[in-house]
Amino acid sequence: MKRVGLLITGNEVLFGKTRDTNGPHMAAALRKVGCEVRRSLVCGDDVEEILRALDYLFENCDVVLMTGGLGPTSDDLTAEIIARRFRLPLAFNDEAWAACVDAFARMGRSAVPETNRKQANLPVGCRLLPNPNGTAVGFSVSGELGDGQVSGQKTVYCLPGVPFEMEPMFAASVLPNLTPSGAVTFQRTWQVFGLGESAMQERVGELERTLQNDLPGIVVSYQAHAGYVTYGCFFSAPHSAAAVAAETLVDGAYAQGVEKAFGRHIVGRSELSLAASTISAFTEAGVTLAVAESCTGGALSKELTAIPRSSLCYLGGITTYANSWKEQFLGVSGETLQNRGAVSEATAAEMASGLLLRVNADVVLSITGVAGPGGGSDRTPVGTVCFGLAVRSARVDVQGLVSRLEGFKWGAPQEAPEAVGVCVSEGVTLLTTTVRFGSRLRRDVIQMRACVQALGTLAMVAESLSMEQR
Ligand code: ATP
Repeated sequence: MKRVGLLITGNEVLFGKTRDTNGPHMAAALRKVGCEVRRSLVCGDDVEEILRALDYLFENCDVVLMTGGLGPTSDDLTAEIIARRFRLPLAFNDEAWAACVDAFARMGRSAVPETNRKQANLPVGCRLLPNPNGTAVGFSVSGELGDGQVSGQKTVYCLPGVPFEMEPMFAASVLPNLTPSGAVTFQRTWQVFGLGESAMQERVGELERTLQNDLPGIVVSYQAHAGYVTYGCFFSAPHSAAAVAAETLVDGAYAQGVEKAFGRHIVGRSELSLAASTISAFTEAGVTLAVAESCTGGALSKELTAIPRSSLCYLGGITTYANSWKEQFLGVSGETLQNRGAVSEATAAEMASGLLLRVNADVVLSITGVAGPGGGSDRTPVGTVCFGLAVRSARVDVQGLVSRLEGFKWGAPQEAPEAVGVCVSEGVTLLTTTVRFGSRLRRDVIQMRACVQALGTLAMVAESLSMEQR
């Protein structure tokens, strides 16, 4: 199996002005096809630094993938550096120049600036990697390094820094060459909501040790997001028979153990985000969704609408900040707002049920809370967020959903008897809960956590829809 190193170049990446997406993109794709990614380095636009980084990577890797520095400006140094390290002369490459001229023509420009000729000055004998989305072609060089310190045949692939140029070039001209022949990979994923990483580790530590004993080389991973963790395992087998044997092991006692250990906390079994799995399940079940937000200011709606084709199930969101808007657009009663307060389970209940009945949605989730830093009181300190959930009972496995949500401290709203009454007569199940995220958290953190709490809840509703459908 090829050992691969990644070298991300560019001052703007090193100094934090641009977030590196090239490294993670390549690493994830290489891992999926069963390549061993050993190291990833970030370097500024400095010849000596890049040479040192290359040597360091080549000491441990057969192949290095480099991004950035292919452009026409003085800080674009890649061709020169690679020529130096492989002891090759630089020469004007007619084919690379023709590709550059062609790229300008595609943009409707017949005159190519003289400075772009620099992009065609490449190490002699390099292989070109076409760039359908930009002017600079990529290139690869294979051979012995010229410094005598690192021996053996080495290969470097040089790709553009701009992600929309780099990603297609990587997929078309690099990944297929590095994919180990015959290797079969598989992974299993669980989205775990409302359990911290350490609590998870305690529950599955023993199972993981057994799995790693039985299947050396399997990689178990915890990817923490705000409010939930993507847990899973990944295995690369040398051939399909080994993959089948490994899958049998993973899907047997290990998967059963994970399901039991995380139980009601599991809100997904794919790599999809909470929002994406929610949208997918609602769409598949033909169930409509709407949200009524206050303290999150539309953040939940933004998460849901970020998912392509969310319009197939998502009706929309109403953000009501002022009490008058809660009354006018959601039908929350003035009495409830006066007696229970805007941040109360009674208000959350009326927001959810009011919107559900007004827009004839199947499921509505509401959020009302105190994001701070001001506005807290003894009864509702900063960080207090109330949630409401109204669900048309015919569309879900009500018993399963209610008992699952009870485990997360949801229940029938005690202080909104009228809303409950209306819901019962309309065949709607109404639930509420209050979460205290803590008064010391920043406003944006409270808003984000409230949003994730809502998404986790919707993912659970989504699971109860799917079960109903099956
Ligand atoms: P150009 O022809 O634009 O000079 P290039 O191949 O020389 O392309 P760079 O100059 O290194 O690439 O980077 C161009 C732009 O691409 C950067 O300003 C940055 O916005 C983006 N970019 C570079 N590297 C990365 C990276 N690792 N992750 C995300 N974006 C990046």
